[in-house]
Amino acid sequence: MCRHLAYLGPAVPIAALVHDPPHSLLRQSYAPRDMRGGGTVNVDGYGVGWYPAPGGPAVRYRRTGTLWSDENLAALSRVLVSGAVLAAVRSATTGMPVVETACAPFTDGQWLFSHNGRLTGWPGSVADLAKSLPVADLLTLDAPTDSALLWALVRARLATAPPAAVLASVVSEVAAAAPGSRLNLLLTNGTVLVGTTWTHSLWVRSDDGAVTVSSEPLDDDPRWREVPDRHVVTATLTPQKTTTVDVQPMGRR
Ligand code: GLN
Repeated sequence: MCRHLAYLGPAVPIAALVHDPPHSLLRQSYAPRDMRGGGTVNVDGYGVGWYPAPGGPAVRYRRTGTLWSDENLAALSRVLVSGAVLAAVRSATTGMPVVETACAPFTDGQWLFSHNGRLTGWPGSVADLAKSLPVADLLTLDAPTDSALLWALVRARLATAPPAAVLASVVSEVAAAAPGSRLNLLLTNGTVLVGTTWTHSLWVRSDDGAVTVSSEPLDDDPRWREVPDRHVVTATLTPQKTTTVDVQPMGRR
């Protein structure tokens, strides 16, 4: 199952998260330590989203194939700096297309989104939930995948509720419609970062005004803490450039 990470804090080169750490996302693409629910490597695509100007829209780069073969991204990642980053490597769920548009992050304006997991009984199990979306949203899904539908469900609710509440409501409704689904979601707008754990691993490291959440710890730093299953983690950047981290249970089903 895919690996993903997100960062909030002082501007850093993307490579400091994706390429350089001992257990970077790059390493997790070919040597992940904690894959659950099928899949051994993450070689079906990858993507990075970041903010060239604080407060501005996100920019996204995504490709199919293996992260380690993209020397152009490796070089660019050393000079692209951002105070918020969301990146993912993909292990396509059986039956899902291996195409660029199925790779996270999914984006809209300032939002960046990623899903690590799969929906049980796709697509029939969530047909009723999908019907709650405007037809135009369904016709413009990035790809015919479970992750793209989850993003459409999340995006449709972002105008009316805080991001943590949006992720929690989508996870609980999808889990009710498709029990056994794996639903680790990540979402940021550059100042708030929200993640869910629903049967996959997620770790958080918080220090000196910077927060990183990642499917697997990027290094041996003892500050990494595992987010318990079925929780929502919310990290916020304050105007004073400090960060707060809040971890809340989502309620068992
Ligand atoms: N089901 C999603 C996809 O196929 C995510 C896969 C994963 O987490 N490995 O893209």
